[in-house]
Amino acid sequence: MTTFQAPKGTYDLIPPDSAKYLAVREAIAAPLRNSGYGYIETPGFENVELFARGVGESTDIVTKEMYAFETKGGDRLALRPEGTASVLRAALEANLHKSGNLPVKLWYSGSYYRYERPQKGRYRHFSQVGAEAIGAEDPALDAELIILADQAYRSLGLSDFRILLNSLGDKECRPVYRDALQGFLRGLDLDEDTRRRVDINPLRVLDDKRDSVQKQLVGAPLLRDYLCDGCKAYHEEVRELLTAAGVVFEDDEKLVRGLDYYTRTTFEFVHDGLGSQSAVGGGGRYDGLSEMIGGPALPSVGWALGVDRTVLALEAEGIELELPASTSVFAVPLGEEARRVLFGVVTRLRKAGVAADFSYGGKGLKGAMKSANRSGARYTVVAGERDLADGVVQLKDMESGEQAPVALDAVVEEIRAKLG
Ligand code: ATP
Ligand code: MG
Repeated sequence: MTTFQAPKGTYDLIPPDSAKYLAVREAIAAPLRNSGYGYIETPGFENVELFARGVGESTDIVTKEMYAFETKGGDRLALRPEGTASVLRAALEANLHKSGNLPVKLWYSGSYYRYERPQKGRYRHFSQVGAEAIGAEDPALDAELIILADQAYRSLGLSDFRILLNSLGDKECRPVYRDALQGFLRGLDLDEDTRRRVDINPLRVLDDKRDSVQKQLVGAPLLRDYLCDGCKAYHEEVRELLTAAGVVFEDDEKLVRGLDYYTRTTFEFVHDGLGSQSAVGGGGRYDGLSEMIGGPALPSVGWALGVDRTVLALEAEGIELELPASTSVFAVPLGEEARRVLFGVVTRLRKAGVAADFSYGGKGLKGAMKSANRSGARYTVVAGERDLADGVVQLKDMESGEQAPVALDAVVEEIRAKLG
C-alpha cells in the first residue's frame, strides 16, 4: 500500500486554509511596503560558515537545529534557519550599503528550516516574514520596526499579544555585565551543559525555561544596572517613541533571545493563547553582525515574525479573516457548442478582471451546479443549445436563486456591472 505522508515536523498548506497563510503574509508585508522597505529574496541555503559566524557557534540554532550538509561538489551548506544573516550577506554582496542611502530597508518572506522536536507551533519547516534596516543607529528605526509589527498584528484583528522589550547593552557595557553574571552563575548548582553555557554565553542561561534553574536566578545581576549612559539614553528614546505612538510594551529584563548577534534593543512578541510556543515574532538591534561575518561596521535592526504561529494566534482568538471568495462566476455549459462558447465567455471575464471558473470534464447539469455551489461563485452562467440559438445565456444569481436570460455579447459587461 502506498501512503502519503509529509516528512516529520512539516505540513502542507492546502485550500481553503492556505488562503489564510497568504493573507497573513500579506498583512505583515503591507505596513513594510508602506514604509520604504524593499523586497529581497535570497537562496534557501547558504554556506554553513555564514550561519556559524552570523548566528553564533554557541546557539541552539547552530549546534542542534541546523540542517547542514555537504554537496557532491564538496561545498558545506546549510538550509537557512533564519533570515537576517542571509539578508545582510546579500546586501553586502550587492554593495547596497555603499549606495549612500542608509539605512537600507529590506523585507522578506519565505521558508526556514530547523531540526527541532516537532510540536504544535514548532515545526522543522516554517514560514517567516521579516524586515531589516541596515546601516543606521537611530532609536526611531528600532521604534519604527516595533510599531510596524504591532500594526501588522492589529490589522489582522489580533489583540491578545504582548510586546516584551529589553536592552542588551553594547560592546562597552555588555562585557562588564557578562563578567558579573558569570561570577554569579558560577556560584550556582547547575548541570554540566548549563555550566558550559555559562562559559560561552552566560546571558542565554537567563532564558532557561526550567524551574530548577529559574529559582536559582533570583538575585542575579540585571543588565539594566550595568547599561552605559549611551545605551540607557538610546533605550529610553525607543521607549518614549513607542509610548508616543500608542504602542503598549512591557519591560522584560530577562529577555535575551536565542541569537548571539543582538545588541541594545531586543524585543519579542508573545501571544497568550499559544501555550508554550508563545513567541509569534522577535527581533532586535544587531550592531556587531556585519563585522562578525566579515563586513564593515553596519549598525542594524530587524525582526522576523512567524507566519505559522500567527495563524495559530488567529485561531486562538477565534478570528475569521474576511477572505473574498476566489471565484465570482462559474460557467456551466450543456453540450459541445455551449462548451466552446462559455469557455470563451470565461476567458473574456478573466481578461476583464472577473474571477471565473468553468465546469470541466463534461459533467451533467446536476454535477456542474454542485461544482458551481462549491466554488462560492456569486453568479452562474448556464447555456444549452436552445439558449445559444436565441443568442443568450442564462445568468443565475446564486444568492437569490433568480435566473434571467442575458444577450451573449452583453454578458461580460452585465456581470461586471452587477459585481460593481
Ligand atoms: P522559540 O523560542 O519559540 O524557539 P525563537 O526565538 O527560536 O523561538 P526566532 O528565531 O526569533 O524564534 O524566530 C522568529 C519567529 O519565528 C518566532 O517568534 C516564531 O514565531 C517563529 N519560529 C521560530 N522557530 C519556529 C519553528 N520551529 N516553527 C514555527 N515557527 C517558528
Ligand atoms: Mg527556537
